[in-house]
Amino acid sequence: MTNRYDPQIIEAKWQARWDADGLYEVTEDPTRPKWYALTMFPYTSGDLHIGHWYAMAPSDVYARYKRMQGYNVMHPMGFDAFGLPAENAAIKRHIHPLNWTMQNIDTMRRQLKTMGSCYDWGREVITCVPEYYKWTQWFFLRLYKGGLVYRAKAPVNWCPSCQTVLANEQVVEGGKCERCSTAVTREDREQWFLRITRYADELMYHSTLQWPERIKIMQKNWVGRSEGVDISFGLDYPGVEEKEICIFTTRPDTILGVTFMVLAPEHPLVRKLTTPERRTKVEEYITASRRQTDIERLSTEKEKTGVFTGAYATNRLNGERVPIWIADYVLLSYGTGAVMAVPAHDTRDFEFAKNFGIPIRTVIAPPGWSGAELAEAYVDPGTMANSGQFNGMPSEKAMGAITNFIEQKGYGKRTITYHLRDWLISRQRYWGAPIPMVYCDRCGIVPVPEENLPVLLPPDADFKPTGESPLKYCKSFVETSCPQCKAPAQRETDTMDTFMCSSWYFLRYASPHYDRSAFDPEKVKYWLPVDQYTGGAEHAVMHLFYARFFIKAIQDLGLVDFDEPFVRLFNQGTIIAQKHKMSKSRGNVVNPDDYVSDLGADTVRAYLMFVGPWEQGGEWDDSGISGMSRWLHRVWNLVLQGEETPLPTEAVDPGAVKELRHRTHKTIKRVTEDLERFRYNTMLAYLMEFTNYLAKVLADKSVDVSSWQEAINALLLLLAPTAPHLTEELWGRAGHPYSIHHQPFPIWDMDLAAEEQFILVIQVNGKLRDKINAPVSITETEARELAFSQPRIKALLEGKQVTNVVYVPQKLMNLVVR
Ligand SMILES: [Zn+2]
Ligand SMILES: [Zn+2]
Repeated sequence: MTNRYDPQIIEAKWQARWDADGLYEVTEDPTRPKWYALTMFPYTSGDLHIGHWYAMAPSDVYARYKRMQGYNVMHPMGFDAFGLPAENAAIKRHIHPLNWTMQNIDTMRRQLKTMGSCYDWGREVITCVPEYYKWTQWFFLRLYKGGLVYRAKAPVNWCPSCQTVLANEQVVEGGKCERCSTAVTREDREQWFLRITRYADELMYHSTLQWPERIKIMQKNWVGRSEGVDISFGLDYPGVEEKEICIFTTRPDTILGVTFMVLAPEHPLVRKLTTPERRTKVEEYITASRRQTDIERLSTEKEKTGVFTGAYATNRLNGERVPIWIADYVLLSYGTGAVMAVPAHDTRDFEFAKNFGIPIRTVIAPPGWSGAELAEAYVDPGTMANSGQFNGMPSEKAMGAITNFIEQKGYGKRTITYHLRDWLISRQRYWGAPIPMVYCDRCGIVPVPEENLPVLLPPDADFKPTGESPLKYCKSFVETSCPQCKAPAQRETDTMDTFMCSSWYFLRYASPHYDRSAFDPEKVKYWLPVDQYTGGAEHAVMHLFYARFFIKAIQDLGLVDFDEPFVRLFNQGTIIAQKHKMSKSRGNVVNPDDYVSDLGADTVRAYLMFVGPWEQGGEWDDSGISGMSRWLHRVWNLVLQGEETPLPTEAVDPGAVKELRHRTHKTIKRVTEDLERFRYNTMLAYLMEFTNYLAKVLADKSVDVSSWQEAINALLLLLAPTAPHLTEELWGRAGHPYSIHHQPFPIWDMDLAAEEQFILVIQVNGKLRDKINAPVSITETEARELAFSQPRIKALLEGKQVTNVVYVPQKLMNLVVR
């Protein structure tokens, strides 16, 4: 047995032993509290990078800590394996997406194992295998039967380069494709939708969840609930069947300030209402706006353009005729595709009116308004003006009064609208779960019976993107018989959005091999919901939102008895290198494998936790990780030296023993409190401080053997979640039974951990002015801060200048002032 710390040898040794013993396998145990610790499963786009480690290693530390606290901890791992990136990568490399994905999974699994995590590998799930996607299809059918799935033609985002429809969430700033940055255009297609909007209100509330505030706000804004009024404006054109235009407004108080209306260029009324002399201009404008994406059209930076149709609508509240314009900033898919315009009280309308010389009428007077035309839109509350019977009323009050008037007259009614749209799940790509639907000439749309699942993805389809699903050209897949009438029929050829696969994977971990349903209800009842979920904040309005919808929907279908999937959520920050985000083009990518084989996984784990507060991230620095490696070597040497050093059974110096035990218990307290709050960086700083102290005590030989052992055992146990291999090895060498990872986490003694206090005397110019309690460990800087913060001292120092401070540790502080 060598006495040198050799992480390569001990890490491989313990990983093999833990694996052989099934140390981290868990089963349901009703006698212990359960803890479901989950990190977002990685996408299988390549090998594991440092970002994965930064998400996974600290969450493993927390899961291990919970195990030692006596929880029955399930900590599973799996792979999110369907979807565009894998398919695109496979096409680029001329290999099948299945082979590409499975190769990546092998690499990633091997890398994950080197991390020394307490994953229960027997629970692994992979979303692209039939044993898994069979149940994704099953959920689709259940949602369909529950009335939460429908098919509709809708304008969709189309990426001409990826040749696929994209969800709104996949269109990034500037109307670009998230994957390839190509400008996204629009097309109409028959698609499958999930009725997520039915849960809009529920999804806005997070009251039972311990989640970061910013994620809750992002989700709330994504739902975008607004209260307002639906109101109709009159139309009177011979030959035009429609006699009104309906709009929605959140500002009924401004309705008497309407000086024009705007329709979306594609609004069906535009062609009917446009006068012959305006036709050419209007047609040109429609063509131009079709070339733009929604995002471009909604951009606030863009100059406001528009064209007058030549037609007018009537504002029923004052009988006024207002001109009808078209403008691309109004979208047909949001609201009614028509808006009223109040330039005096809306910034966008103001700009538009100024551009086109449309009148601007103030109906809400700012405080002290002279009656002159406004220099800019006034959007705040004020006093009603130019509004007939409502004049003089505070505008907040007029809001209700005008709405009541509108409802009484039958011009409209109160209503609520949402930004949230239903979830489009159809993808015209190969690498996804086939949608289990059949089209029959006689019966129409027929769901595949559950007992016929899975609808297998044919391995031999030509999967190159064409704009239509590659499955369309795979005869053996398309041609089937109708489940109802047995006549020849055709399969749906679109595949599902991968976010469907990841909306329920956390249920599968509870019973990964169960084959009678997507999950064993008893096991889900025991393990779910997830107690601690960890992952990137970039999933705020996608994965985290969809998964919440999914659980709420299947709860309503009676499949589960809880309504939120993730009780606690933590978003880790980002690791940067050389002051920048890591990227291949910048050449600053840190490959975790190199460091693991060089310095060991324990060092990489500990270093990642030390670089900064976990939620903020930090900068990777080679000298920093060397420092961490040196510290673990010091821990190793300290523990072994302690065993070789003969310490007395009775203490030589009772004061030293008292201090050691105090430090031991104070460290247990600090480490525990920091672990609870994911303050790993300060936790490690305390442990480092503690080891420095222990080294000094050992050199002095001033303490007895039992308080030394208490200290060393505490050190190893406190460090066990962070450095699982090193501590297992040292624990065994100290003669303790295997495994340290079955030991209870240490608990501090309140009395021993308590800080000893002394009375700090504060003098000002030599005169006694105050006496305060202070901990004996206080530094001079802390003592100064404490003294200066005392109200009596503060008052004495007011307007004076402190020219000198004399500090006698654990006694007094004299402030010399002028
Ligand atoms: Zn693209
Ligand atoms: Zn049929």
